Amino acid sequence: MLIDAELLLNYQRCSRRAFLDKHGDLAQRDPPNDYLLKILQDSHTNRQTIMANQVFCQPTYSHRDWQAGASATLELMQRGVERIYQGVLLFKGEDGVTLASNPDLLIKQPGQSFFGDWLYLPMDIKLGKRPKLEYQIIAAYHTYVLAQVQGAWVETAWLLLRERGRYAVDLWEMLPKMQEILDECILTLSQPQEPEVFIARNRCSLCHWFSHCYSLAKTDHHLSLLPGVTPARYTQLQVLNLTTVRALAEVHPAQLEPLPGFGREAAYRLVRQARSTLQNRALLIEENIDWTPPTARSALPARQPQVFSAETELPTAPVELYFDIEAEPALNLVYLHGVLVVDRQAKTETFHSFIAEFPEEEATVWQQFLDLVWSYPTAPIYHFCPFELQTVERLAKLYGTPSHQIQPLLTRFVDLHERVTRLVTLPVESYALKPIARWLGFEWRDPTANGAQSIYWYSQWQLTGDRTYLDAILAYNEDDCRATYRIKDWLVNFLQSVYQAELA
Ligand code: SF4
Repeated sequence: MLIDAELLLNYQRCSRRAFLDKHGDLAQRDPPNDYLLKILQDSHTNRQTIMANQVFCQPTYSHRDWQAGASATLELMQRGVERIYQGVLLFKGEDGVTLASNPDLLIKQPGQSFFGDWLYLPMDIKLGKRPKLEYQIIAAYHTYVLAQVQGAWVETAWLLLRERGRYAVDLWEMLPKMQEILDECILTLSQPQEPEVFIARNRCSLCHWFSHCYSLAKTDHHLSLLPGVTPARYTQLQVLNLTTVRALAEVHPAQLEPLPGFGREAAYRLVRQARSTLQNRALLIEENIDWTPPTARSALPARQPQVFSAETELPTAPVELYFDIEAEPALNLVYLHGVLVVDRQAKTETFHSFIAEFPEEEATVWQQFLDLVWSYPTAPIYHFCPFELQTVERLAKLYGTPSHQIQPLLTRFVDLHERVTRLVTLPVESYALKPIARWLGFEWRDPTANGAQSIYWYSQWQLTGDRTYLDAILAYNEDDCRATYRIKDWLVNFLQSVYQAELA
C-alpha cells in the first residue's frame, strides 16, 4: 500500500474520504468544484510568486511517478544542492507500506547524514494565514519520511504562511501525534469496509464525494443530517442504540443529558429537533412538549401562555431593509452590499446593489451603502448571521466613519438567524439561509449559487471582464436578501399564530 501526504491530509479531515480516494469508484466522484479549482490555482500562484525570488533545483519526473521523482530527488540530495523544489521522498517500511512525501522545499543545512556533512529540512508553502494542525501534522510526516531517506532527524520543519511568513512546527509535539494518525490511517485503509458516512457540512461541502455520500445518508435517514448531531454525540447515541430519528424523538432528554458532549440544553434541543423532523413541522422552542416516552405519558403542568413581542424580537415597520454582503476573505475585501428595501405601505420591493467592480472601489461602495441605509433612518435592517454586523463595524473602523453614523445604525440590525434558532425548531438539515428558505418554498434563480461560487465569479470577472459574472453575483445576492425577507415574514406569522391560539 502507498500512502502519500495528500491522502494523510484528507484522512485527518475525514477517514471515509481517504478510504474512498484509495478504494472508491472514481465514477461516483463529483466533477471539480469551481471554488476548489480557484483555491488550487491561488495556491499554485502563491508558490510561483514565492519561488520566483529563489534559486532552486527541481527534479524532473512525470506526475505521480513517485519512483522516478524519488530517484531524481535523491540524486540532487546526494549532490548537495542548496534547495530542492517539489522533490519526492519514498520510504518502504517493514510492514510493506510505502510512504511518499513531497514537501514544497528541501533546504540544505549543516549536519551529518547519509550524504555527508549536510542534511535537509522540509518546508511547505501554504496559502493560508494560520498554521492549521493538519498542516503541522503533514510537516511532521515530511520530517519522518525525510529522516528515513537521509538517515538523520532534523529539529525543525517549516510552514511558509501567507502574510505571517515562516512558522516553525514543534516536532516534539507533532511527531507522536502524526505517528498515531498515520497508524490509524493505515489500519482504516486496510479494512475491507469503508467508514460509515457522516455528513458534516463544513468538511463535506467541498468534498468530491459529497453527492455520493449525501445520497447514501438521505436513503438511510442518517442521523448526521439532523442539526446538532456531531460525530462525538453520534458515538454516544450509537452506544444507546439511538440511531434513527424516530428513536431519538421518543427518548426522554434526561437520558441524554449526562452523556459526554451533551448537557441539558443540547439534550432537549436534540430531541426537539428529532420530533420536528419526524413530524415535519415547526416547533416553538418553549412549546409545552410531553417529554415522557409514549409508553409512560402523563400530563405535565401547563405552561403559562407567553405574549410574543414582535416589536422587540422582529420589528415590522413601514419600511424594512434586508441586507446581505458578498466578500472575499482571502483579499479582506467586501465587493458587494445588497439591500432589498421593502416598503409595506407603498407595497414595493426595490433591490439596491453597491458593487466594487475593482477592489479599489471598496470605500466608494461602503459610502453608497451608508447613504442608502441613512435615507431610511428608522428602518430595521434584517440580515442572516452575525457577519454583516461584524463587517459593518470593521469597515467603519477601516474608513474612519464617525461613530454618530455607525452606532445608531448598529442598533437597527436584527440577526434573523439568531431569532430563528432561539425561537423555533424546524425540520431542516441545517439552520443556514438556504435550507430554511427552501423549506418555506423559496427557490434561488440559480440553484447552484452559493457564497463560494460568488467568490469564484468575482475572480472570473476580474480575470475576464465578462459582466455575466457580475450579473450572476447580483442575482444570487438579491435572492439571498429576498430569502431573508421570506423567512422573517414567515417567522412573525408563525409566532403570532401560535401565541394567539394559546391566548384564545
Ligand atoms: S462527503 Fe463528507 S463523509 Fe463523504 S467522504 Fe467527503 S468528507 Fe467524508
